[in-house]
Amino acid sequence: MLCKNIGVSGAHLTFAGRDTVALAQQYDTPLYLMDEDRIRENCRIYMTAMREAFGDKSFPLYASKAACFKRLYEIMKEEGMAVDLVSSGEIFTAVKAGFPMERAVFHGNNKTDADIAYAIDCGVGYFVADGMFELLAVDEIAREKGITQKVMLRLTPGIDPHTYDAVATGKVDSKFGTAIETGQAAQLVEQALQLQNIRVVGYHCHVGSQVFDEEGDVYLNAADIMMDFGAQMERKFGLVMEMLNLGGGYGVRYVEDDPYVDIGENIRMVAEHIKALADKLHIAMPAILMEPGRSIVADAGMTLYTVGTVKEIPGYKNYVSIDGGMTDNPRFALYGSRYTVHLANRMDEGCDFCCDVVGRCCESGDVIQPEVKLPKPNRGDVVAVCTTGAYNYSMASNYNRVGRPAVVMLSGGKDYVAVRRESLEDMVQNDL
Ligand SMILES: *Cc1c(COP(=O)(O)O)cnc(C)c1O
Repeated sequence: MLCKNIGVSGAHLTFAGRDTVALAQQYDTPLYLMDEDRIRENCRIYMTAMREAFGDKSFPLYASKAACFKRLYEIMKEEGMAVDLVSSGEIFTAVKAGFPMERAVFHGNNKTDADIAYAIDCGVGYFVADGMFELLAVDEIAREKGITQKVMLRLTPGIDPHTYDAVATGKVDSKFGTAIETGQAAQLVEQALQLQNIRVVGYHCHVGSQVFDEEGDVYLNAADIMMDFGAQMERKFGLVMEMLNLGGGYGVRYVEDDPYVDIGENIRMVAEHIKALADKLHIAMPAILMEPGRSIVADAGMTLYTVGTVKEIPGYKNYVSIDGGMTDNPRFALYGSRYTVHLANRMDEGCDFCCDVVGRCCESGDVIQPEVKLPKPNRGDVVAVCTTGAYNYSMASNYNRVGRPAVVMLSGGKDYVAVRRESLEDMVQNDL
């Protein structure tokens, strides 16, 4: 099985030790399941490895865009994680959950003045500023509010992590951050130091998402460039790099032939490399931050659906339609993402029926996964899609006025609703 929290009992698929068919019956479908114990385990992998490798001042931040709802912030708080936030909506959710905002970092390539003011009012610990426009706005609003805002500068180190273009963000021509290569980053530092109400504590880069480290040492290369830049800025402007934030991005396994990333081992490798760089460049070791999103929640998620129609077109292909689709999981439509799909109530049967598993939306592109092999499904069978904990609920929409599914958390043999299913009334709540 793809992950150790997935299993089979009799003919039924299990998740976090629970019978998925029973859960589908109990809560109805489509249904997001989340394995709370797995989320906590994933947090602890980062917490432990980063403390050991980089020391006490270093810490992981959960990139909450991967999955954002109140209960998750409570879990992050309990696990001692910091968090990344990218909008007033995410800030509001974290505040509502009682998350300590001094451990929050505010991201985004176009924060509005209202976002900036709200984030400062909520006491967000750090801004990651994308460029000069933002620095000026933050400085001005911070002055009005009589505070000094801690800021990291988001830089593009010019690295191509060989992942999908849509999720590669560290290249020079990215919409995010300020480029080192063009000299603009150095200029940004110089200008930032003139501003009275911000304090530059370090630098940030994020080279991309779903990064596997086999072909290139993406994080090591990023560290080379960022450490070198930090040392240059210290020599030139006397600005000590207190923090270096290396972003997110470790990959997870969606299908059996995806490689496995040993995150703990990778972090140890990055740490050794950065310590050597600090020695070579004669600068103090900065606190290291990392921002995992996907690798915290992806394998803690599974989505359950009920089969509706099975359409066979002899000589062409077969379609299996389920009661959800791109409204709860747009990732195949967006990126061609791969997924592992099971027929959860018939795990004891051979998989000899090849089909496209498709949603119920009025879009031909509404595909969850093409060319899946299953036992030939019947109406009412339960389809399970694995590894849906990241970028599914958080990317869900109400297209076709389909309500978002409930999120049910599983922990220690218990289950509870963390996000309730959207009702028909919810569909018209903002219509006047
Ligand atoms: C998306 C993002 C992350 C998280 O990336 P994952 O691939 O989910 O780990 C971290 N930092 C920034 C700035 C991001 O945009």
